[in-house]
Amino acid sequence: MTRKHPSSLVRRTGWPTSVSSPVVTPLQPSVVYASPDPDALDAQYADASGYTYAREGHPNAEVLAAKIDMLEGAEGGIITGSGMSAISATFLGLLKAGDHVVGGDQLYGRTLRLMTQDLPKLGIETSLADPTDARAMESALRPNTRMMVVEVISNPTIRIADMKGIIDLCQSRGILLVVDNTFTTPRMYQPLSEGADIVIHSVTKLLAGHSDATLGYVAAKDPVCIAEINAANVTWGLTPSPFDCWLAERGLHSFDLRFERAQANAGKLAEALATTPGVKRVLYPDRPDHPDHNRAANLLAGQGGNMLSFELEGGREAANALTRAAPEIAFAPTLGDVGTTLSHPASSSHRGLTPEARDAIGISEGFFRVSVGIEEPELLIDELCKAAAATV
Ligand SMILES: *Cc1c(COP(=O)(O)O)cnc(C)c1O
Repeated sequence: MTRKHPSSLVRRTGWPTSVSSPVVTPLQPSVVYASPDPDALDAQYADASGYTYAREGHPNAEVLAAKIDMLEGAEGGIITGSGMSAISATFLGLLKAGDHVVGGDQLYGRTLRLMTQDLPKLGIETSLADPTDARAMESALRPNTRMMVVEVISNPTIRIADMKGIIDLCQSRGILLVVDNTFTTPRMYQPLSEGADIVIHSVTKLLAGHSDATLGYVAAKDPVCIAEINAANVTWGLTPSPFDCWLAERGLHSFDLRFERAQANAGKLAEALATTPGVKRVLYPDRPDHPDHNRAANLLAGQGGNMLSFELEGGREAANALTRAAPEIAFAPTLGDVGTTLSHPASSSHRGLTPEARDAIGISEGFFRVSVGIEEPELLIDELCKAAAATV
């Protein structure tokens, strides 16, 4: 068979040129980058510039990282394939056998698993303590403690960590402080400017915001630290897909607006739920009856965020009735989506705990966590409060 044009289908043709340029960030899925000659490639490796192989770095990750850097007041942050890979890369890059890590006792479920089951397999010692009390964190320290890991708002009990005490403690003892800022977002709290060493995000949640991309982010104050974390990210293969980065960057365009709306909705919903029959208590940091209200007011500039929890008077039966009575509100164990999502810790994130252990932290069968979305507030309040009232 002869071809009209003497080329091969497998040769990539050049990209059409245009005087005008695209307004939207291009999506670059290329796994490899071709160099003009070995000298040029050598030079690229020598000063780690440009792109060679997508696992080592690609433009869509770089564009996204720069945007989150801007939000966090960070420099040189990196994108990882998930929030968990951000945490894993941080551990793998900075810890070695014989080190000890102290974590908050109500960290994200998978982070808790990493701490209690996986790090010990690598010879890394771990302890958990109550981050609402810096003295409790201090009591957990050992001579070999190298790192502390906390979340500012606990999941799902919405307690506020004693960040000022923890920062002072870590600074005075030379311990690396890692803050998972997923729930708070840089709109409520900026760990690096407050004195933490490392900030982590599950970008999957509020930052990307549409439940269609799984990604993480890490930034460190010390460039040597982030270089170690990046090496672990690339070597252990925890790196992100260009398409997810592209989606997340698009999601970030509306982050500020989404956050404002979701937070305003959360405040209104908390107020409405508090006077709804069948609701025993509402946990929202901006409410005066919240156990850490004063700390939240100081630490989070009076902002409540988009996460709240509430407890029904009834048990599992009432919980089933609530989700069935509000079918439009996704009963799904995630957070930070544009739409409101409901989660029920006793049957999902905290199902591994005994009922007594759950009771000890206030998670009954009637306990729900709400990630408030950006829908019309009247609609949301009407739907959820009616569903709650239908449980009595
Ligand atoms: C979801 C979440 C994670 C894990 O992120 P993935 O993107 O799901 O891997 C870590 N920390 C917190 C606080 C989270 O909510």
